Amino acid sequence: MAKHPDVAIIGGGIIGLTCAYFLAKAGLSVEVFDRGDFGKEASWAGAGIIPPGNPAAAATPIDRLRAIGSMRYPGFSEELRELTGIDNGYLRCGGIEFLDAEEAADVLPLWENEGIAFEKLSRGALRSFEPALAEVAGEPYLLPGCGQVRNPRHLQALVVACEKVGVTLRPNLRIETWRRCPDLNNPAIELLSAGTTHQADRYLLTAGAWSELFLNSFGRPAGIHPVRGQIVLLKTPTRIVTRVLMLGKRYLVPRLDGHVLIGSTEEPEAFFEKANTAEAVAELIGLAVRTVPALASAELVKCWSGLRPGSPDGLPFIGRVPGWDNLFVATGHFRAGVQLSVGTAQAITELLTGKPTCVPLEAFAVDRQPHSGSKSAFRS
Ligand SMILES: Cc1cc2nc3c(=O)[nH]c(=O)nc-3n(C[C@H](O)[C@H](O)[C@H](O)COP(=O)(O)OP(=O)(O)OC[C@H]3O[C@@H](n4cnc5c(N)ncnc54)[C@H](O)[C@@H]3O)c2cc1C
Repeated sequence: MAKHPDVAIIGGGIIGLTCAYFLAKAGLSVEVFDRGDFGKEASWAGAGIIPPGNPAAAATPIDRLRAIGSMRYPGFSEELRELTGIDNGYLRCGGIEFLDAEEAADVLPLWENEGIAFEKLSRGALRSFEPALAEVAGEPYLLPGCGQVRNPRHLQALVVACEKVGVTLRPNLRIETWRRCPDLNNPAIELLSAGTTHQADRYLLTAGAWSELFLNSFGRPAGIHPVRGQIVLLKTPTRIVTRVLMLGKRYLVPRLDGHVLIGSTEEPEAFFEKANTAEAVAELIGLAVRTVPALASAELVKCWSGLRPGSPDGLPFIGRVPGWDNLFVATGHFRAGVQLSVGTAQAITELLTGKPTCVPLEAFAVDRQPHSGSKSAFRS
């Protein structure tokens, strides 16, 4: 390895680790810093829904990025399993999305244009697909291509995969700030942590909800902010629901072993406070029991919360930090960092190896005007 790595990555959540793995596989030397254990923040907390997609026909860059993830997750999961022996639990379980008339008018044309398989279900068909369901508001649409992954297992696999392809992992090392190195041509900046400096040819910021601190200090505030999401985990002795149930911004994600995740709130007002509140937990349990009455007797296993990296328009920032040759960013993935992680890592790797990117990165530029009213094919 060179005296300093080709790329230093600040933040080892799903975005930082997936980028590290892809970059290392492309032949770059990579070092990843995390102030704690890897993958224990938003990426651990997420529900792991992977909506369907078709990159060739996706209408917008964000839909394309999501569709790349949808297409590549099965193969990527298999690759991780072969390399690490860890099964991330990826499952194309299908999903049912409940839409009111206005929502259907927004998203159905997007699904049709993208060639996403879906079917409007009659109440009878819904009952035969998911007999445990009660009456749910909205029309049910079956999405056979919807998948899920078990986040903690996926993160664990990513950590081991990174080690196997030679990524240097530095847990429990908080990058406090950075400074210019006027006496050095390359690198032009260095990172500082607990009195130590760290240099690399290029830097990639993937610090999730904590990214704004760095963007501010680079003179490029972007409006990244934490948006707390709470989740409740229930367990039944056997699986009583098989598909992901999407109800607006709430959802039920049934695992194969009888666990059911109920999510999730959106609480920007909680700022950086990770906690569960009685009100939110009661609301989520109420939703679960109204949707699947048999869950009333399920075991309440635990609840947790995570801090999503929100952005002013809900879209991520991916690309070079304007005004800096060797600073790059991949952050602000809000509700969709798990499904967008593969496309993001692909795009970052293409950018850093001088190849055309799989999506036009202008849509994700740090200095863009926030997109207003852009519609995405999925809400979860
Ligand atoms: C409740 C909930 C449900 C979700 N459900 C889904 C879903 O179903 N599907 C989906 O696609 N997405 C989902 N998401 C969104 C997804 O989890 C996030 O978009 C994604 O995890 C963001 O990944 P990240 O790597 O950017 O951030 P994080 O996972 O937060 O990682 C950032 C890392 O940076 C580190 N860090 C911060 N500051 C520093 C520093 N100064 N020095 C060193 N390291 C630092 C942190 O320790 C952390 O490990 C959900 C999120 C939540 C909270």
